[in-house]
Amino acid sequence: MRYDVVVIGGGMSGMTAAIRAASGMRSRGKTPHILLLEKNKKLGKKLYATGNGKCNLANRNLDLSCYESENEFFPYKIMTVNSCNEVEAFFRQLGVMLRDDHGYLYPMSMQASSIVWALSDRIRAEKIELHLSEKAESVKIQDGLYRVYTDQGSYETVNLILACGGAAAPKLGGSLSGYRLAESLGHTVIQPLPGLCKLKTKEDCELLNGVRTGAEAALYIDDKLYMTERGELQFTAEGLSGIMIFNLSVPAAVYLKQNENVSVVVDFLPDLTEPAIISYLESFQSDNPDRTVLACLNGLLHEKISQYISKRMNISGKYTGELDKHTFYEIAKRMKRCIFPVISSGSFEEAQVACKGIDTMQINPDTMESRIQPNLFLTGEMLDVTGKCGGYNLMWAVITGIKAGNGIHI
Ligand SMILES: Cc1cc2nc3c(=O)[nH]c(=O)nc-3n(C[C@H](O)[C@H](O)[C@H](O)COP(=O)(O)OP(=O)(O)OC[C@H]3O[C@@H](n4cnc5c(N)ncnc54)[C@H](O)[C@@H]3O)c2cc1C
Repeated sequence: MRYDVVVIGGGMSGMTAAIRAASGMRSRGKTPHILLLEKNKKLGKKLYATGNGKCNLANRNLDLSCYESENEFFPYKIMTVNSCNEVEAFFRQLGVMLRDDHGYLYPMSMQASSIVWALSDRIRAEKIELHLSEKAESVKIQDGLYRVYTDQGSYETVNLILACGGAAAPKLGGSLSGYRLAESLGHTVIQPLPGLCKLKTKEDCELLNGVRTGAEAALYIDDKLYMTERGELQFTAEGLSGIMIFNLSVPAAVYLKQNENVSVVVDFLPDLTEPAIISYLESFQSDNPDRTVLACLNGLLHEKISQYISKRMNISGKYTGELDKHTFYEIAKRMKRCIFPVISSGSFEEAQVACKGIDTMQINPDTMESRIQPNLFLTGEMLDVTGKCGGYNLMWAVITGIKAGNGIHI
């Protein structure tokens, strides 16, 4: 049998593309013959893990810092201020209402399973043929049609949608297979790297392990400021974590790969200036000269951070009365500019996404169709577009899936 569309990948993007292709065909009076291939035993396995099980699937706040790609403006030819409404309308049609939490969109139930159920139900209702536990291994072009070879058979199709996701989170389905399939069809792949993950620092952070604190973190590449994030900083024994570090990890991974010096400079007290900190230290000293340095720093910082800074400065055992002006200046500097040289980012096992991927120069942003092979569409995370934390990657997966589903040739 010849299919109208074969979709490879039953994640957010592939399911969206299959549904949109089916409904588009029906609205034009055609009966869709669509096959969805998924190598996992169930659809949307990764989705259950997103947003800590709540599935943060879109974000109303959009600016040029939200997506990273070598083809800098490509993401913004696709993602617009209306994208969030499109996601909302798509899920409304599937019977899921979304809730808006300060611009972050979730299913009203706050359960990722609502999203997976709605997508799976619509796939059944649209009579999309679903093959679970079946992996696409290669694709050939024969007489202007695509022939997809899997571990269980082969299928001929007019349109092919690759929605295989990236290499991150292999336990949830992440793999290199989408990149390989795209390469075999003539597409260029920019080496994928782990993104949205922790950063391992040169310095042992054992003393700070488990600490969570509000802070500002600045990413420096070869001593030049690259970007700044503010939020909750988490420490692990190996280094830095938390959402703001995840956001820094995308450019960090790219520059580490190029052997550049990468460091994160942490401001533990972003709301206080250095003079304000020094003034506090001086007044503490004059009121409490016989109390320890730790007692003094604990008035400003998490106890473990106070221990870390005083240990690094060799002043842990001292009393505040023993400190001079220069030491006060040094303490304030370390509170405002604590430098953590980065040696590596996390692995694909630890990463939420793969950054880099299929070169978007070869893709039409209006339809997600390949500029190299007609009737081939590429969507979602496998492309060289990475969103920051906050729903941007799922929003990308949905919107590119919608575009590909609308773009098929019938
Ligand atoms: C723990 C975690 C939390 C996250 N939280 C969020 C969040 O809250 N918000 C957000 O925006 N993003 C989040 N992300 C990122 C987001 O989940 C992904 O970017 C998004 O799911 C990508 O969608 P996709 O459809 O492109 O790829 P995927 O969801 O990876 O789907 C691809 C599917 O293709 C299948 N597949 C691959 N190759 C083949 C093959 N050869 N044959 C058959 N099937 C194949 C895979 O098994 C997989 O099911 C999170 C990621 C992780 C790991």
